[in-house]
Amino acid sequence: MSNIDLLTKVFEAFSNSSEGRYVYLTDLKTGISRWSKNCVDRFGLPGEVMQNAGDIWEEHIHPIDREEYHGQIQAIMEGKSDEHNMTYRAKDKTGEYVACTCKGRVIRDDDGNPLYFAGTIENHGVASEYDHITNLFTRFKLLGHLRELKAQKKEYYILFIGLCNFTEINNVNGYEFGNKLLKLFGERLLEYVKSSGSFDVKEASVFHAGGTKFALVSTVFDSQKIKDIYEELSDFARHSITIDGTPISVNLAGSCAHVDNFEIDEHTVFSSGLMGLDESIYEKHGELIPFDSLGTDSHDKIVIINALRNCINNNFEGFYLCFQPIVSSVDDTLLGSEALVRWELEPYGNVPPNKFIAWLENDPLFYDLSLWIFRTAMRTWKEYVLKDNPSLILNINVSYIQIDKQCFRNDLLSILDEIDFPSGNLCLELTERCRFMDLEFLRNEIIFLKSHGIRVALDDFGTGFSAMELLINLPIDTIKIDRSFVLDIENKKEKQHVVKAILECARNLGVRSTVEGIETKSMRDVLREYGASTLQGYLYSKPVRIEDFVELKLDGLGRNND
Ligand code: C2E
Ligand code: MG
Ligand code: MG
Repeated sequence: MSNIDLLTKVFEAFSNSSEGRYVYLTDLKTGISRWSKNCVDRFGLPGEVMQNAGDIWEEHIHPIDREEYHGQIQAIMEGKSDEHNMTYRAKDKTGEYVACTCKGRVIRDDDGNPLYFAGTIENHGVASEYDHITNLFTRFKLLGHLRELKAQKKEYYILFIGLCNFTEINNVNGYEFGNKLLKLFGERLLEYVKSSGSFDVKEASVFHAGGTKFALVSTVFDSQKIKDIYEELSDFARHSITIDGTPISVNLAGSCAHVDNFEIDEHTVFSSGLMGLDESIYEKHGELIPFDSLGTDSHDKIVIINALRNCINNNFEGFYLCFQPIVSSVDDTLLGSEALVRWELEPYGNVPPNKFIAWLENDPLFYDLSLWIFRTAMRTWKEYVLKDNPSLILNINVSYIQIDKQCFRNDLLSILDEIDFPSGNLCLELTERCRFMDLEFLRNEIIFLKSHGIRVALDDFGTGFSAMELLINLPIDTIKIDRSFVLDIENKKEKQHVVKAILECARNLGVRSTVEGIETKSMRDVLREYGASTLQGYLYSKPVRIEDFVELKLDGLGRNND
């Protein structure tokens, strides 16, 4: 019997994999492994029989968990250990990380020689089909349902609903109260859908989409029905909820789509829906936002998001970084630059970041992209700039989605370590939406970053209503005043007063200031007079690739500005 036949026989003897449970068996003499088909399918592995499966699998494991995994497997291969038991995050075929518990054991012959390494992988993502708070199907089940509809080429309507003022409700009444609210709302949604007509559960199902979000998917409702449901529920949430005798008014946000494009994968639909919810919450006071072809060019948007996701999964295809100088306002000396991400791919052309960052922010893949940006920016800056100009600062934009992740701190520190990048040369720009985060949490994160020597700037300063509150309460190093404040400042008295006041306030608080969008010498002269610390804008250079950046005739890279 050949090695592979034997392996197959042994494998089949003990394999009893289910949807969320996989089995693997490795012949330690030949290094050949056999893995369950459902695992191969779910994670997009090269085949059920693999050579060096440990290395292939390692590629799927989250970078933070990888080292420990590698250590355990190496110990087994070197005969130093007989057992493997670890829970890690593994990336599936669609790019989403799922939690897996992997247990394995070395099987030895009578003489104690290692023969096989066999074990199971339990996929917890698959296991949790019901949410224990709302008793509704989970987000995972929702993704599976959308995947099925796509495979069957069935058109459907999807409605996402978010409870807006939930944090506040939780803070005032406690978590238990918040959980009861989620349960009650989920029940009402389900009840409402059930009472809308007689159909199979597959034709209209309700899901808990994570956090305070719900989703309804239907192959039988039309767009008017979806709007009616949303209005009815909004009315219910605002006026008719009572929990433990306490009446409570909840504001809803909503987004919806008619999905009839079967090229689009379920993750794109999900992310676009969450993005629509954000727009509904932050820009449209809870109005129902269509995120598909209903009217605008947003159908293209969903196609582009799909392409962006595929590119992130495909080794960040089409992504690159540009660098824009930041100079001293006193004498235009170069002090650093801001790294700005770009994405360009045919037939979509060059899609600007202020579009695609907002589109991707709700997608789990965005975090992978942000780590790529960190790594690429630091590596490039170290190689091209720091070598000869060790004092120049690199600014990198960070969105609230990144900071909000528990692993953010560790990831950032391990990238600094991996690249051996001096933390004093790094400044993180917190972009506008960070202001929606819990102030105390943000404050702690900034203190942590600063304790590691990293500088922190508040980007887009002045564009939000709470800018002054943030300036006063957060221990930031720099504010970056948005371009909109200085556009035409030479001719606009009101802008002059406002900018002058902001700059003075920052100075008195010991906070540095960068003014963006300096396009002309006369603008520069005004801001110089007002005492801005540093300036950035097309007057000095547009964002350019690093090869062009080092060629800029700016004082500070060893050349004089002329
Ligand atoms: P931002 O961080 O405020 O970046 C400044 C934006 O203003 C850049 O646009 C830059 O090209 C533009 N700009 C700079 N000087 C001038 C000027 O003199 N005139 C004009 N008209 N524009 C000027 P860009 O590169 O399109 O980026 C837009 C936004 O996208 C950024 O705003 C930032 O919020 C976001 N972004 C860009 N790269 C990243 C990134 O790597 N990560 C994250 N999270 N966000 C990013
Ligand atoms: Mg910025
Ligand atoms: Mg900015």
